[in-house]
Amino acid sequence: LLQLYAPLNFLGFVYREIKHSLADMEKMFTLLGQNAEIKDSADALPLQAQRANVRFENVDFGYENNRQILHGVSFEVPAGHTVAVVGSSGAGKSTLSRLLYRFYDVSSGSISINGHDLRALTQGSLRQHIGIVPQDTVLFNDTIYYNIAYGQPDASREEVIDAARSAHIYDFIMSLPDGFDTMVGERGLKLSGGEKQRVAIARTILKNPPILIFDEATSALDSKTERSIQAELKEISANRTTLVIAHRLSTIADADEILVMEAGRVVERGHHRALLAANGVYARLWSMQQHEAEHAPGDKPVDAI
Ligand code: ATP
Repeated sequence: LLQLYAPLNFLGFVYREIKHSLADMEKMFTLLGQNAEIKDSADALPLQAQRANVRFENVDFGYENNRQILHGVSFEVPAGHTVAVVGSSGAGKSTLSRLLYRFYDVSSGSISINGHDLRALTQGSLRQHIGIVPQDTVLFNDTIYYNIAYGQPDASREEVIDAARSAHIYDFIMSLPDGFDTMVGERGLKLSGGEKQRVAIARTILKNPPILIFDEATSALDSKTERSIQAELKEISANRTTLVIAHRLSTIADADEILVMEAGRVVERGHHRALLAANGVYARLWSMQQHEAEHAPGDKPVDAI
């Protein structure tokens, strides 16, 4: 029986490893947003830009032919500026970031970087220019070092450590028994939402792209973590062309422009103050969120309890 047990046990191990590798591959494809329909055109050129001007011009888009999601969306993010997109769930905010990363092609209109239509660029070079801090960061079943360095195989250990420092996750990592060699992910240490976002920020710092997409987490982090993540993002978005998909208006009050979306259309745009003064959709969303914040059980000031 023992003779049988060892190979069976080994087979079980191989099976688990394969299953986890498949899960990793699946995550990787989700992460890379592989969409087989999007192919480089024969004469696609590599994008080479230190600074990037992003422009959406009259963009229509639907995931399926019979359901249009975006209707004539136009906006520009000048190099180094920050544009934030707000609006109710399903309005089409995240769709904008998926199109900019070219997971999908627009149905009509165009998206360009420095005047180059995305469809004329190689996907590899486009994605090398964009850093994404997603709502929910995918962690691989590997070390925290691997997870930060992921996608930048040429990065030196010093660069990875510097990126962790800049993302304010270095002290946390050093407090772990195995430091940077600590296994994370489903089979290792589970990180909190804030820690996972910091890993994503460190990845982005290491990548050093001219364009940044920040998809704010829908589920609120605790307010202290939220504030410090915001401060870190402000640091890394300085001088980068940044698109913020925002769920909490308090985090984007100082954006260069705010787009308010409803059912796939931009219905208002401008600075925070101007939008409040206009007393429209944004002002309503703002007062709703202020009201919610005042009544959130965890966020009451101490003297009110
Ligand atoms: P939230 O604030 O909830 O994240 P959002 O404004 O970012 O919402 P999107 O994710 O852009 O909204 O979705 C816009 C619409 O597109 C929704 O109606 C959604 O159901 C639809 N949609 C999103 N992804 C897909 C997909 N892969 N296939 C088909 N429809 C999709």
